Amino acid sequence: MQVFRGGAVLTPDGLVQADIASEGERIAAVGTQLEAAGEQIDATGLHVLPGVVDAHVHFNEPGRADWEGFATGSAALAAGGGTCFVDMPLNAHPPTVDAEAFRLKLTAAEASSLTDFALWGGLVPGNVDRLEELAELGVVGFKAFMAPSGIEDFEAADDATLYEGMERAAALGLPVAVHAENAALVTPRARGRGWRDYCASRPVIAELEAIARAILFAQETGCSLHVVHVSTGRGVRLVREARAGGVDVTCETCPHYLLFDEEDLERLGAVGKCAPPLRAREDRDDLRAELLGGGIDLVASDHSPAPASLKTGDDFFAIWGGISGCQSLLAALLTEGLPVEQVAELTAAGPAARLHLPGKGRLEPGADADLTLIDLGDERPLGAEELLYRHRHSPYVGRALRGRVVRTLVRGRTVFQDGRIVAEPAGRLVRPRPSR
Ligand code: ZN
Repeated sequence: MQVFRGGAVLTPDGLVQADIASEGERIAAVGTQLEAAGEQIDATGLHVLPGVVDAHVHFNEPGRADWEGFATGSAALAAGGGTCFVDMPLNAHPPTVDAEAFRLKLTAAEASSLTDFALWGGLVPGNVDRLEELAELGVVGFKAFMAPSGIEDFEAADDATLYEGMERAAALGLPVAVHAENAALVTPRARGRGWRDYCASRPVIAELEAIARAILFAQETGCSLHVVHVSTGRGVRLVREARAGGVDVTCETCPHYLLFDEEDLERLGAVGKCAPPLRAREDRDDLRAELLGGGIDLVASDHSPAPASLKTGDDFFAIWGGISGCQSLLAALLTEGLPVEQVAELTAAGPAARLHLPGKGRLEPGADADLTLIDLGDERPLGAEELLYRHRHSPYVGRALRGRVVRTLVRGRTVFQDGRIVAEPAGRLVRPRPSR
């Protein structure tokens, strides 16, 4: 038994000044002045939050572990208060599009992940017959690209593939997640190769059209749909309105669409390139308003690292598009000034519920003892030397971020404490438990 005394504990009923006790891998009790023996840990002055469940990362293993890998990716996640990540089927090689690739990834993750994890399967042309085997192995759902992914071994799903994949996913009771951009409207029409030209080449309408089409497919097939990294408030409203009309659709956004706008690319350069791109300030403000108003279901990092050699140069069309951010997901949202209850909903309870991850996302008796202890009074610029990524670059470097993670526990084991990783890898696959 270990007991954290006197912290501000975020329970499903709200924030309470309380003690929280864990027994083995589970939370045993939450309450005031708990009678509990065992190790007593003073949490006075700290917030005790459910560990972050990052629903969207690319740790790139197997096959591209030199870009990140489970060891450094999960260490960075834990340093940022994360206890579970959900890895995308790309940019691992082979991509997770069949049982064999799933097993390769599972073996790699079990060998070196500090935190628990779940896996997305892929939906690509030619693999609709493989969705069932992936479901049996425990994927949380299927990710499809509606525009080229940037990786040649993970093809975009044409409309027929997406539609049929959604029919199959609906029968399996699992969601389809889409990268929503209309490929035909993503065109390097621009004259130059700079950041402005890049942003102009991926207009908001490309996102809106793709979201609307995916929603229509979901409505027709009865498939559960999740739209990843929505970058505009207008995109969120399409999702919100469809849900009000009875479609099972949710969306996520990422901190970089909230903390940065396209003008920041002048200063950030290559490190800030992503797809969809950072948006105009008005669009960013609109997205923030949707977030504050509760229109967004979850926030994920879309951590998509690459070696520094691929995140450099002036040709914005040639630079790798992906932002390293899983270590700063929680702090970035706290910096945005959202209430801590809402931050925990967006980063823990929300993703765990959407992806049906049992035992995750909530601090209540019987749940996994996945905790992050955080000092919300701490605010200072993020230093590159603090990053535990394999490649220490991120647009958040130098940015003042609120909230210092003091300690992270995964199923009762402390994995990160006072700036250091203090455990060996023992992460486990979390299989979804859909309600239907
Ligand atoms: Zn992604």
